[in-house]
Amino acid sequence: MARFDDPNELAALGIGTRAIHAGQEPEPVTGAVMTPVFQTSTYAQPKPAEWPWEYSRTHNPTRNALQACIASLESGRHGVSFSSGMAAIDTAIRLLPPGSHVLCGDDVYGGTYRLFTKCWAPLGYRFTFMDTTNPELVVPDDVDMVWVESPTNPLLKVTDIAALVQKAHAVGAIVVVDNTFATPIFQRPLELGADVVVHSTTKYINGHSDVVGGVLVTSDDALHDKMCFLQNSVGAVPGPWDCFLQLRGLKTLHLRMERHQASAQELSAWLAERDDVDKVHYPGFSGMVSFVLKGDIKAASRFVQATRVFTLAESLGGVESLIELPAIMTHASVPPEVRAEIGLPDGLIRLSIGVENLADLKADLEHAFAAAANG
Ligand SMILES: *Cc1c(COP(=O)(O)O)cnc(C)c1O
Repeated sequence: MARFDDPNELAALGIGTRAIHAGQEPEPVTGAVMTPVFQTSTYAQPKPAEWPWEYSRTHNPTRNALQACIASLESGRHGVSFSSGMAAIDTAIRLLPPGSHVLCGDDVYGGTYRLFTKCWAPLGYRFTFMDTTNPELVVPDDVDMVWVESPTNPLLKVTDIAALVQKAHAVGAIVVVDNTFATPIFQRPLELGADVVVHSTTKYINGHSDVVGGVLVTSDDALHDKMCFLQNSVGAVPGPWDCFLQLRGLKTLHLRMERHQASAQELSAWLAERDDVDKVHYPGFSGMVSFVLKGDIKAASRFVQATRVFTLAESLGGVESLIELPAIMTHASVPPEVRAEIGLPDGLIRLSIGVENLADLKADLEHAFAAAANG
């Protein structure tokens, strides 16, 4: 029954084929093609403690399928799923003993910054924020973990992951890459030497704005053992239904990302040509674009309220296009002086380009430019 039992055979398949099949064998009782929602908390045991399935915090077949699928897409051996991206990130920090020093990118997701500075720093962990996109960056000797988000959010700056991994490994630090914005379709950090990949699966991995979830992926067996221990001990696990939805979303990841990217490439070039736009941030791949509208925060605010196809909302990576003002929405938890330091202006507008028809997206933005100008 099992079709892709051999990991080498699986790894030889294209990433789109693996998005559809990895970890997802036909269900053995009926042959059901789609992995069922194993909506159960516990499992009958034929003999005491001799059965692989005991309790759904520890193991669940729907979750296992999801974990195996994402691991395969990231070219990793192991995936460990969580109930949110933040729970996955929290677990990654728990891999380190108290007193550890984390070197973190200076333009990371606002919630990551808040978790590190407000929850973990008071417990004796040290965080140093630096620009990981700077090729001259020196990784201090006492660093235990380097935390990279690439492209960054919302300025979409790109880090040379392979070069940073070399510097980090030279001082004995492990490297964690938040790959939420790039997805494994465009960037696979484990292939570049990183030790752990993290995703907010809420975004492109699930892709339909109907689940909050997270995952850690690694090929290191010892790190994986620790992650599973923490997943079971802390208990921030996703329910089977959320795992099912993520598996379903993943089946079109490669198709969605092609369209997100094609439209983002078109729209970023179109924005860059405009006189009413100061600066466009687009790394050349994936589906996120940000830009600075000429004028004040009020004009930017009129802009984001004028779109109809783009929905004014936090989050990203779904099939529907979203628009937001990072300074007062997603990045409000980053202090104003830090925002000024990293060059995040109040008038920066972030777009998550969905998979609607490009002409409609363009017309919608055109309308918003007019509304912003007519304040
Ligand atoms: C959304 C996001 C997170 C947090 O994930 P949740 O699923 O919202 O908990 C972490 N990193 C990045 C880059 C994100 O966009």
